[in-house]
Amino acid sequence: MPDLERIGVVGCGLMGSGIAEVAARNGLDVIVHEPEQPALDAGRERVRSSLDRAVARGKLSQADADSVLARIRFSTDLDLFADRTFVIEAIVENEAAKVELFGRLDKVVESTDAILASNTSSIPIMKVAMATPRPDHVVGVHFFNPVPVLPLVELVPSLLTSDATEQRARTLVVETLGKSVIRSQDRAGFIVNSLLVPYILAAIRMLDSGFASAEDIDTGMVLGCAHPMGPLHLADLIGLDTIKAIAEAMYDEFKEPLYSPAPFLLRMVDAGLLGRKTGRGFFDYAER
Ligand code: NAD
Repeated sequence: MPDLERIGVVGCGLMGSGIAEVAARNGLDVIVHEPEQPALDAGRERVRSSLDRAVARGKLSQADADSVLARIRFSTDLDLFADRTFVIEAIVENEAAKVELFGRLDKVVESTDAILASNTSSIPIMKVAMATPRPDHVVGVHFFNPVPVLPLVELVPSLLTSDATEQRARTLVVETLGKSVIRSQDRAGFIVNSLLVPYILAAIRMLDSGFASAEDIDTGMVLGCAHPMGPLHLADLIGLDTIKAIAEAMYDEFKEPLYSPAPFLLRMVDAGLLGRKTGRGFFDYAER
């Protein structure tokens, strides 16, 4: 095991940009990959504005923010991952895309001791592990959004993850990145989404049925249950495409109606109303 892991992050959307930022803020050498330049540029911008917010709140000096950004290499060339020791996949929540990527990562990353981790919210780790000849070196590390703010990581070993891989992932996440870990079985949705996603889907069905307004549903949970944000704002923050993908993966696994994506959610996704990231979801963010 290297003294300091050399981190590769695949995907620089909401989660990949946050994971890259947190790794770089903790002194690690980070490369982030997106296949297309515009998405890569948007990812760099996302990291920069998150660092700007940390500076504005007095959590980071401008000089430190500049050196964090300098520690992250942004590249459209996955071959740069040859020397990585710990790769975290954070691409779109699509099993076929992740399986294809893990097959490629296995060929690109040269060290057979390197760990290939997935930030998937719901796809069983075994599915991506079996796309490689090294399933013992594949593990789930599920960060929460926004990664620089939320302290939790779900650690998800598959049936074939070695104890050494699990321990090394735990060391990185807890000791280097300063996060708190809970350990989940390798079942679609893991611990948190198994509880959270049926709740969000219930709120969407409640809205769709006309039972209550979006504002009242969210206010009910904020003022009545002391949640920091209501379920519909939370869905907008996570991304409705991601919620749909998580619900589908959980429904595929358990065949329980409470996990089936609500038709209203499907239509929102068809319409491109994905929440904050597109400016509109259950609420409008265009002005912000
Ligand atoms: P996102 O849509 O914001 O970002 C995904 C990024 O992956 C995009 O920038 C896209 O261009 C890129 N991408 C797609 N295919 C790629 C490929 N083959 N190679 C490289 N890049 C590729 O999504 P996100 O919210 O960041 O989610 C990423 C992963 O993290 C998903 O598995 C999701 O389930 C999980 N996750 C999301 C949240 C959340 O709150 N959004 C929380 C925890 C985990």
